[in-house]
Amino acid sequence: MVKLTREVAVAKFLFVTDLDNTLVGDDKALFELNHRLEQTRQEHGTKIVYATGRSPILYQELKDEKNLIEPDSLILAVGTEIYLDGTGAPDSEWSKKLSSGWNRDVVVSTTTQFSELIPQHDSEQRSFKVSFFLQEESAARVLPQLESELQKSGLDVKLIYSSGIDLDIVPLGSDKGQAVQFLGQKWKFVAEQTVVCGDSGNDIALFAVEAGRGIIVGNARPELLQWHNEHPANSRYLATNFCAGGILEGLQYFGFLE
Ligand SMILES: [Mg+2]
Repeated sequence: MVKLTREVAVAKFLFVTDLDNTLVGDDKALFELNHRLEQTRQEHGTKIVYATGRSPILYQELKDEKNLIEPDSLILAVGTEIYLDGTGAPDSEWSKKLSSGWNRDVVVSTTTQFSELIPQHDSEQRSFKVSFFLQEESAARVLPQLESELQKSGLDVKLIYSSGIDLDIVPLGSDKGQAVQFLGQKWKFVAEQTVVCGDSGNDIALFAVEAGRGIIVGNARPELLQWHNEHPANSRYLATNFCAGGILEGLQYFGFLE
């Protein structure tokens, strides 16, 4: 058994992690994890990907503050933008995929009918994401109406409402999980060589990718734990430790790290 684990441990893998309260949140464990990840990337060609709801500006702030290592790819703005190899522009192949059934101007003009929708800061308005604040007490009434108005316009869009305040309207074919599959195909990683890490509801799309390995950190939010309990899978590991400590624990459990 021990031998088998070591054989797995020397292989490269596709490492994908959410940032807030998953990779970031325990500085000491992050320091250790960064070191281990750099090592496996150098020795085996492991690819490191951050998948976050943050826009480029808010990502850069966190990267500087926490001294995050340079990823091989970035999935930003809840999966609507993929950045590869440190280039400043979103991947055009991915953007092209998202374009069908999407019309930003129509989304924006449809939303103006709803006074409850307060636009988020300009930095959070992206080519394939229109973002608002929506108070929780209005959400149950506004969301179905908004959805039906958008459908009437013939758009293929998805509403993502999270943390009782943030509303993102994005193309139907866009989420963190589909973005990871896009990268996996590009880099030729099978699902068994892919491991995703997360802590909250907007990471569910990451964990929903079939046969991929998943690590839920010990500090996960109730909505993710509830989903995990309702959709149990052997390929998913529920860590005891928090944040980067939980990721280390999970990588060892799956044999990706010794
Ligand atoms: Mg998070």
